[in-house]
Amino acid sequence: MRHDDDTGRRSGAVLEIGREIGYMRVMLDTAAAPMPIPGHIDPVPVPRALPMRKDGRVDLLGLTREELRLALETAQLEPKQAKLRAKQLWHWIYNRGVTDFALMTDISKQLRPWLEQRFAISRPEVVEAQVSSDGTRKWLLRTDDGQDYEMVFIPDADRGTLCVSSQVGCTLNCRFCHTGTMRLVRNLVPAEIVGQVMLARDALGEWPSQPEGRMLTNIVMMGMGEPLYNFDHVKGALGIVMDGDGLALSKRRITLSTSGVVPMMARAGEEIGVNLAVSLHAVTKDVRDEIVPLNKKYGIEELLQACADYPGANNARRITFEYVMLRDKNDSDDEARELVRLIRKYRLPAKVNLIPFNPWPGAPYECSTPDRIRAFSEIIFEAGYSAPIRTPRGRDIDAACGQLKTAAEKKSRAELDRLAAEKQAALG
Ligand code: SAH
Ligand code: SF4
Repeated sequence: MRHDDDTGRRSGAVLEIGREIGYMRVMLDTAAAPMPIPGHIDPVPVPRALPMRKDGRVDLLGLTREELRLALETAQLEPKQAKLRAKQLWHWIYNRGVTDFALMTDISKQLRPWLEQRFAISRPEVVEAQVSSDGTRKWLLRTDDGQDYEMVFIPDADRGTLCVSSQVGCTLNCRFCHTGTMRLVRNLVPAEIVGQVMLARDALGEWPSQPEGRMLTNIVMMGMGEPLYNFDHVKGALGIVMDGDGLALSKRRITLSTSGVVPMMARAGEEIGVNLAVSLHAVTKDVRDEIVPLNKKYGIEELLQACADYPGANNARRITFEYVMLRDKNDSDDEARELVRLIRKYRLPAKVNLIPFNPWPGAPYECSTPDRIRAFSEIIFEAGYSAPIRTPRGRDIDAACGQLKTAAEKKSRAELDRLAAEKQAALG
């Protein structure tokens, strides 16, 4: 291959990149555009595309190593060069957190503006950042097409957990979950998922990536959305998060939470390999059908069998069962005993996370009493399983995991309440 100059660009060829990228854009739209995703249809693999921004540049964030190399080749960088530059870029992007090509000192001075013209390294737009009195932080983020989603960082004495969203909204409509009431749903693309981790690292000042002494040590896919209904993008994003030369988070420190998309669970274990959390929430068909409607498609027994078969689960890496405590709905002693029976029946290496229900305006349930939650926990604990009660965090900024809803919508609700109160006052 002849080089035009020392940047290693290919000479001569008149490849219509614009048109090619235009085509890619069409593919991307199919994968991520706002659309009613049929809630009860399992995801089909969608071809990944190079994400082009409104300014015509290709976003490098969220591309796999291979896609990054291909992006450079598509822009006419000679293959050997593309391979080398992809490796350097990867390190700058994910190890150093750099977003400006001009700062990439081991890339030749001529090549840096060339990259700048064609590529960008994005971050999600931050609409609002809040800090709770207990140190929990919440960010309201906006996609390029104007949709809001959230992420939360929960610092603890020995760890810091980032709660990451996988979708805007959720199609599954669990009755106790605020996210399930959002009308608009779309899958987040890998750049938007990885972008949450990058933003958190920016905010915590954690560049370059350190093996020790980090504040952000754990990731839970427990924000908005059902990660197993956005399998390919979540897999791509977590692959990047786990890459040793980049963000380098161990799979043991990442937990994916699912409401029970049974056909995707084995693939999640084999292809992503992170810890599994299952939103069980009920032990009888009637109650689970009501509160987690996906149960009508994949019942409790089928779900527990998929847990028993989950690759990589053992006593050192147990499956977490999440159980939201709803007053007089799923919180009796009998239900606690039934939960233990089921765990034993399937010989599950399990722990149970009891989550006090966090109410939202118009929610059809109340939280169980503290005494009830303690009694429930006690029964499971006596049977030999750990059953901690999750302490609500960031309540003053509405930051509890799994019930995120955009502040914009909350504001409009608050606005509506205020208007209703004014009307009432005027009438009275
Ligand atoms: N869709 C996935 C992951 C996101 S939800 C899932 O359902 O597992 C993350 C967790 O938060 C789930 O266990 C969910 O049931 C829980 N959750 C949702 N709304 C809640 C609420 N109002 N109070 C307490 N926990 C809630
Ligand atoms: Fe979706 Fe999870 Fe909320 Fe259910 S609990 S509606 S699956 S985000």
